[in-house]
Amino acid sequence: MQGICLLGATGSIGQSTLDIIAQHPEKFTLISASAHQSVDKMVDICRRFQPQRVVMGSQSARDSVAQQCQGLNISFEWGGAALDSIASDSAVDQVMAAIMGFAGLKPTLAGIRSGKRILLANKESLVTAGQLFMDEVARHKVTLLPIDSEHNAIYQSLPQTPQGAHQQDVSKIILTASGGPFRDWSLEDMASVTPAQACKHPNWSMGQKISIDSATLMNKGLELIEACWLFGVTPNDVDVVVHPESIIHSMVSYRDGSVIAQMGNPDMKIPIAYGMSWPNRIETSVPPLNLIDVARLNFESPDITRFPNLKLAADAWFMGGTAMAVLNAANEVAVASFLKGRIGFLGIAKLNERVLTSTSIGRVDTLDDVFDADRQARLLASELISHGHFS
Ligand code: NAD
Ligand code: MG
Repeated sequence: MQGICLLGATGSIGQSTLDIIAQHPEKFTLISASAHQSVDKMVDICRRFQPQRVVMGSQSARDSVAQQCQGLNISFEWGGAALDSIASDSAVDQVMAAIMGFAGLKPTLAGIRSGKRILLANKESLVTAGQLFMDEVARHKVTLLPIDSEHNAIYQSLPQTPQGAHQQDVSKIILTASGGPFRDWSLEDMASVTPAQACKHPNWSMGQKISIDSATLMNKGLELIEACWLFGVTPNDVDVVVHPESIIHSMVSYRDGSVIAQMGNPDMKIPIAYGMSWPNRIETSVPPLNLIDVARLNFESPDITRFPNLKLAADAWFMGGTAMAVLNAANEVAVASFLKGRIGFLGIAKLNERVLTSTSIGRVDTLDDVFDADRQARLLASELISHGHFS
């Protein structure tokens, strides 16, 4: 029986993870769960799964959940220290890191430092603190399994030998992208995109922030950086290919000309179940892929003129140090501001570029360096927004 700590239980990844736990009660048990503010969803989780510990983002949210769950034998807590504590609890074997954004970094690191299997959905934590994150993974000999569908596909397509990947045999990683809802829109039309339009992804049903990131291609930019850290490569080793059907989740190209791809219906339960059951496989209830129904798979190049975020991410990787934390922070502020109607859709990439190019990039020696860079970039982004020009 594997004990699961589910960080971000009320989100899209969180709900799919609960679905897998519910399908395999003899294999997995929910030890702990966290959410930021979603009281009703958490009450429902408590009633269905009866975890030992629950952590909410504020005292008032904690009190509301506790009050509605009287009689259940659950410890209700709140705040950052409690998040770290559930991720390192001795009853936990696997930590599903499914908090949205930079807020997921600290508890994910707490899970790594206590030697848990890490199921990484929260790409922002790896993007912002990449080197420190991977150093800790190595130091604590942690099994790190990527849940992001592309990285999960790459992981499955790399050679699975006891020695790990034979780096010299791999010639390219091919990262696929759906292209998002505005793949074939003109810049003029993209200028007036609304949050509701941007949140409607053609193939995947996801949380708001990643949906917007998919629409601006920042998600692919973050994933490019994520792939570099996970697989020890640089953006020069990764080709991004737009594949609107989202059936091939990514590929690995080898020096003999072979290309290995992982395919499946676009449903996050597949990579989640893979991570939870690795090195075995379990049922997910996802319908089998019907290639006759799919009929056609299309591929095209990404357009960095309309989607500059992809290039910004590669630039940030090559700048190194705090650049990735700066870009991520700018983007988190930009997306939240777009959702509130304070900046336009094209303003997101403009703001990201402005913040990245007007910040002095420093070294990352400690976690404080990452947090300082994040804080300063958020301040600068907010200041720039309050002065306008990002419509
Ligand atoms: P979501 O918005 O649906 O859920 C986010 C979860 O995190 C919720 O439980 C929320 O309560 C919690 N949360 C939000 N802000 C928080 C904060 N400040 N502190 C603590 N908890 C907080 O997001 P999602 O779509 O499930 O995505 C979660 C992560 O997984 C993201 O990093 C995303 O990039 C990644 N991811 C998601 C998908 C997907 O299909 N949804 C695919 C690949 C990767
Ligand atoms: Mg992805």
